[in-house]
Amino acid sequence: MGELILPGKTIGIIGGGQLGKMLSVAAQTLGYRVIVWSEESDCPACNVATSTVVGSFSDQRALNQFVEVVDVATVETEHIPITTLRNVSKFIPLYPDPEVIAIAQNRRNEKGWLAERNFPVAPFLNVWSVEEVINFHQKTADEVVVKTITGGYDGKGQMRLSAKKITEKEIVQIQEWLKRYDELVIETWLQIKGEFSVIAARNKRGSFVPFPVVENEHKDHILHRTIAPARLDKKIVDKAISLTKEIMEQMDYVGLLCVEFFQDQNGEVYINELAPRPHNSGHYTLDIAVTSQFEQTIRAITGLPLGDTRILSSGVMVNLLGDLWEKDFQVEKILSESSTKLHLYGKKEARPKRKMGHFTTIANTVDLAIEKAEKLYKSLS
Ligand code: ADP
Ligand code: MG
Repeated sequence: MGELILPGKTIGIIGGGQLGKMLSVAAQTLGYRVIVWSEESDCPACNVATSTVVGSFSDQRALNQFVEVVDVATVETEHIPITTLRNVSKFIPLYPDPEVIAIAQNRRNEKGWLAERNFPVAPFLNVWSVEEVINFHQKTADEVVVKTITGGYDGKGQMRLSAKKITEKEIVQIQEWLKRYDELVIETWLQIKGEFSVIAARNKRGSFVPFPVVENEHKDHILHRTIAPARLDKKIVDKAISLTKEIMEQMDYVGLLCVEFFQDQNGEVYINELAPRPHNSGHYTLDIAVTSQFEQTIRAITGLPLGDTRILSSGVMVNLLGDLWEKDFQVEKILSESSTKLHLYGKKEARPKRKMGHFTTIANTVDLAIEKAEKLYKSLS
């Protein structure tokens, strides 16, 4: 392994959502063929891939079909059975390495890996029973949050518990989750001043190239908007980038990684979670960076030189959730704005909280980009 995989070869993407779609487009722009392996036909990525393997991620036949035609593979989601990833990598190079994805796909592994190496994380405990949840809750004076160890995203599989009392209903939910997952993670709900993320690429030769640090604002545990670049002290920016580099070096990481951070009222920085793939907070790179996070992923896994990550202006990315489709979604409103780009993922059904697309406002200053984004978003809802 370690060879260069040149344009003309075939890139395999496991997962067919919007991240897979944008990865496919980036790979094709560089002249690669793209095979998407999706559990559903008619997925966002299926509609742009050169061809598709449709089948369950635990189906051996689908796996054989995929590895037969693919030269190098990557994932667009960490929620793929680890045995499948290990089996794929027996036949073809898969980046990031399955053992790295195994860490990021399971909150116990992830928090454990970080805490063991003294990376800053919120106080947490792995729990197997309701009693342990109640104990942690009583010992912690603050609010806490219970999270399922696998399968969670966009706030799914998360429940925030007030500092005062756990209700009957919450206990029933915890029991249900324990039945389903055996194990949960409980952590202190931090009084955060803000959230930010670092997306960076690393290749086989150990080159490390970060994108600018960006600010993230969530609503109901779901990313609402990303502000690029972040309005943070240089000291914090440098610290976040050096923590990201340290993680990638310790993992001997090849590919693109997103590290989500919290900053508390005292300026302390905590690592929230790791995403071993392109991330929603990097969508702005499509419209204002020299290289997008999707192209950078393709460069990193094929061994091509990593791209220039400078941004050419400020920008704000705002997610468009299915709720906005309850009335008529106003495409024209967004498209008639100047310096604004719209991306729709092509999902057939608009459900509440489902990510349907995003827009990015582009401006010379962060303040102007925010103002523009706020005005436009308000006019849509
Ligand atoms: P997901 O996999 O759904 O992204 P996260 O653990 O990143 O799960 O949680 C989603 C969001 O919920 C975070 O970005 C943050 O806004 C909020 N959140 C989660 N855990 C905490 C915590 N311990 N303290 C404060 N906010 C939190
Ligand atoms: Mg998250």
